[in-house]
Amino acid sequence: MRLGIDFGGTNLKTGIFSEDGKPVVFVENKLAEFTEDGNLLDNLIAHAKGVSKDYKLTSGGLAIKGLINTETGVLEDDIGAGALLAGKNLKEAFGKKLNIPFKVGNDARAFAWGEYKFGAGQGSKAMVCMTLGTGFGCAVVVDGKPFYGSDVLGGLLGGHISINRNGPECPCGNRGCLELYCSATAFAKRVIEAHPELKNNNDVLPEFFNRLKNKEEKYFNTLYAFQDDLAIGIVNAIHAYGPDVVVLGGGVMNSAEIILPRLIEIVHKRAWTFPRKKVQIKVARLGNRAAAYGVAFLN
Ligand SMILES: [Zn+2]
Repeated sequence: MRLGIDFGGTNLKTGIFSEDGKPVVFVENKLAEFTEDGNLLDNLIAHAKGVSKDYKLTSGGLAIKGLINTETGVLEDDIGAGALLAGKNLKEAFGKKLNIPFKVGNDARAFAWGEYKFGAGQGSKAMVCMTLGTGFGCAVVVDGKPFYGSDVLGGLLGGHISINRNGPECPCGNRGCLELYCSATAFAKRVIEAHPELKNNNDVLPEFFNRLKNKEEKYFNTLYAFQDDLAIGIVNAIHAYGPDVVVLGGGVMNSAEIILPRLIEIVHKRAWTFPRKKVQIKVARLGNRAAAYGVAFLN
């Protein structure tokens, strides 16, 4: 049995998977449950022990946002939710206490690896996986291996490919990054700017898609602008990595039937001759389990 823990921005997802990829246990907790007393790492390890107590684990992994030194297992950055664990040797801490080989991986790469092994990317020769969430996640699998590049960042910065050199400044230092237009957060912001009447909805995007489903004319231009921008980002990634499959994930893709047809049309119009004919655009299949799956099977 393999243990996979996905440490997200607000939730912690923990899965135990059989060797052939069946989820035996999958639980989701609020992160706040583990942070309240200031002993986050100890609490996470105790939680992992509790969830896995009836199973014989052979390996495990933790997926987390940020820059992980894959050799040492230390989380090296100090931004986002992972800041609470920054500088700690997570690989050693979990591995010793659980007494199993343990890996720590970037969450976007783990998501991509999960989709490659058990989801929409199965059988692909090269895959780019993009997740539209709070940020814009990106990761690449080439020749059956997660792509790392010359450092741990290889393939992860797809959200920071610029699609507009005069665009707004991005915290990353670039301008007009794809993330500023096409993360779920940015998309919701664009929808509200164009359609202030949707502002008071708890869930702006589902409401926006409802109105599109009802063929309310005035909402379509905002959808078209989003599709145009996302298509450019996808084409740039296709030209960079040469995938045969691009997998798109995130809650926004619950409305894939509205987003995809025109998006695919633009991608195939803009992509260079050869990939134009063969690259497939697919929707992620493992939902919120993908990163836990991926990190469980990373080694
Ligand atoms: Zn950027």
